Amino acid sequence: MNKHHFKKRYGQNFLSDEKLLSAIAEDAQITKNDTVLEIGAGGGALTSQLAKRAKKVIAYEIDKELIAVLTQNLRGIDNIELIFNDFMMSDMTALEERLGENYIVAANLPYYISTPVVMRFVEEAKKIKSLTLTLQKEVGERLAAKEGTRDYGTVSVFLTALADVKITRYIDRSFFYPQPNVDSVVIKADFVGNKFAINDFDNFRKLVKSAFGMRRKTLVNNLMASYKVSREKAINWLQSFNITPTIRGEELSALQFALLSNNISLLNMP
Ligand code: SAM
Repeated sequence: MNKHHFKKRYGQNFLSDEKLLSAIAEDAQITKNDTVLEIGAGGGALTSQLAKRAKKVIAYEIDKELIAVLTQNLRGIDNIELIFNDFMMSDMTALEERLGENYIVAANLPYYISTPVVMRFVEEAKKIKSLTLTLQKEVGERLAAKEGTRDYGTVSVFLTALADVKITRYIDRSFFYPQPNVDSVVIKADFVGNKFAINDFDNFRKLVKSAFGMRRKTLVNNLMASYKVSREKAINWLQSFNITPTIRGEELSALQFALLSNNISLLNMP
């Protein structure tokens, strides 16, 4: 590892504490029947902990300079497949074909793409069982945030609509090398299907984005702008759920967004 030149642009902050790595792998609740996808293998420290517990690990790593390091560090372990490519450029359908039903994602994510990675799974994944991710504390707290809190936003709602999300641990910045200037958390998201029976995800996304578009505006004003409807109609939509017309989008729970979205798409049908 000494010879590796750490690249900030790839978010290379590695973990080496075996106890911590083992605890993160335990958070993912992997069994010998599970296939695990890792994003950003780095020096392979988490990869080997995952491989100990899983049937198979498929790990992406963008930095080809890590080929020699990973080959050396993971030698003798025969259930790891390394892919030296940008995960964001991967074809999700083809990848899921190879991962099979109910695969697990576990990763210490590079900070610069942590939200886009989560959004990829929310928008594109069809066969995922769970995500266990080490992320910058602020990002993790946003993902797990509840309505009415400062951190609550579009990603919180999108993820909560499909998964049960919790923070499993806090990690001090001193555990990483090189040390970043932020602390981290591990979040676990268990995908439980379309739990709120959303009938039109495009409309759900449009509604949630519109509600947080102008955060300081009331939901009614945001609805009028994005759906091009009268104030009266927007108020009507909310009142059919006993939602007060002066509410701001950030006060609505994911379930309320789902119900409202279903109602809007029903009422907006030609
Ligand atoms: N898993 C290692 C650990 O826990 O020590 C490394 C984690 S480090 C925070 C993130 C890793 O992701 C780096 O090795 C980086 O090169 C890699 N990476 C960054 N962007 C990537 C991408 N788009 N696709 C795949 N790997 C990426």
